[in-house]
Amino acid sequence: MNNSKLLLILLFLSVFSKGLSIDIRISLYHPHIIHSLMISCFEGGYSYVTGNGEIKEITQGQQLFLKNFNDEIWIREDDQGWTHTSQLFLSRTSGQSIISIKPASPVLPERNYYSNLEIHSVHGSLRVINVIDLESYLMGVVETEAGPSVPIDFYKVQTIICRTYAIRNFNRHQDEGYNLCDNVHCQSYKGRNKWNEDVMIAAEVTEGLILTDSDTMPIVAAFHSNSGGETQGAENIWLNGQAYLLPVLDPFSIDQPNAKWERSIAAEEWFNYLRSKYFTFDTPPDTMAYQCSQKHRMKYYIVDTDTLEYNKIREDWNLKSSFFSIFYHDSDFIFIGKGYGHGVGLSQEGAINMARKGYHFTEILNYYYHDIMIISYHDLPPGSLFQE
Ligand SMILES: [Zn+2]
Repeated sequence: MNNSKLLLILLFLSVFSKGLSIDIRISLYHPHIIHSLMISCFEGGYSYVTGNGEIKEITQGQQLFLKNFNDEIWIREDDQGWTHTSQLFLSRTSGQSIISIKPASPVLPERNYYSNLEIHSVHGSLRVINVIDLESYLMGVVETEAGPSVPIDFYKVQTIICRTYAIRNFNRHQDEGYNLCDNVHCQSYKGRNKWNEDVMIAAEVTEGLILTDSDTMPIVAAFHSNSGGETQGAENIWLNGQAYLLPVLDPFSIDQPNAKWERSIAAEEWFNYLRSKYFTFDTPPDTMAYQCSQKHRMKYYIVDTDTLEYNKIREDWNLKSSFFSIFYHDSDFIFIGKGYGHGVGLSQEGAINMARKGYHFTEILNYYYHDIMIISYHDLPPGSLFQE
C-alpha cells in the first residue's frame, strides 16, 4: 500500500472514530444593525463571486468595502469600482485562513474569525454570518466565558457546558437563517481564540462531550460567577425546577474573588420601596423587624405577613446576588451579600478552585449538576439533538 492510500485510510478512521464535526452558523455583531463594513484578509486567502459573476480572491492585507444600498450588497475591492449582489460568500482558500471584520457604520470593534463568511442584505442592513465548525466556535466562546489563566480542567468544564448549550439550542434562530447569535442572548462569541493552547487542548480532549439528563436530553447547563457557598434550585428563580439543578453546599466558592459584597441603602429609601410592593407599616416602623438573615438560601424576605422574593429584590436593586442578610445601622440598611450571579447550577469560581485542587473535570460537573450523564452527542439518538 502506498503512503497516500494509508494516509487517506488513517484520515477516514480518525474522522469516524471522533465523529463528524458539524458546522454552525453564527450571526455576528448581534443585535447591531450594520450598514457598512470593511473586510480584510488577516491570514491565508478567501475567494468570492462579485456582482458581475467574476470569481475573485483576496489575500493577506487586501480589503473589501461593503455597504447596504437598495436592499443589495455593494462591494468595492481596494481602489476598484463598485459591483453589487444580493448575497456574498467568502470561502477560505486554505485551512488556516482568518478574516478580519471592521463595521464602519455603526463603528464597532474589529474582530478576527476563522473559516467562512456569509453576508446577506436583510431589511436594509448587512447580516454577517460566520459558518464555522462547532469545535472552533466553542474555543472562541470558552475564551470569552472562562477568561485567561485558569486551570485546564476548568476549560474542559466550560467547553462541555458551552457545547451542551449549542447542541440544545441549535435551532434557536432558525427562522432568521442562522443557528445562534454572538451575543449573551445565546453565548458570547468574539471570534477566534487568541492562541490559548489550553483552550484548544480542552476542546480536543472533550470533543463531542455534552451533559444530558437520564433520558439523554441535553440539560440546561446553568452557571454563574460565584454561589457564595451554596447554590440554589432552579425553581427558586425560574418557573420550573429541574432534577439536575438542585441546591448544593459549595465550600469551594468561599474566599474566592466574588464571594462577598456589601451595599448600603437609606432606611427611608428601603421603606419606600417596600411600600411600592404593598408592605404595611407601623408608625414609626420598627426598623429591627426589617432586618433578615440568610444563613442558607431562602426564597422569601418576610416581615410579619408581608413577603417578597429575594430574587425580585436582587433584580430591582441590581444586587450581585439574592443571597444576602440585612442589618440596620445608623439610618441605613446594610446588605451583606454572598456570591455573584443567579446561583443556579455551576459556580465558575468554585469550579476553578476545584480544578486548582486537582479535581477532574467530570468530578466538578457531577458536583454541581445532579444525576447527569457526560456523553458524546455523536452517540445520541437523533431525536435528542437539535431541539426547536
Ligand atoms: Zn441569540
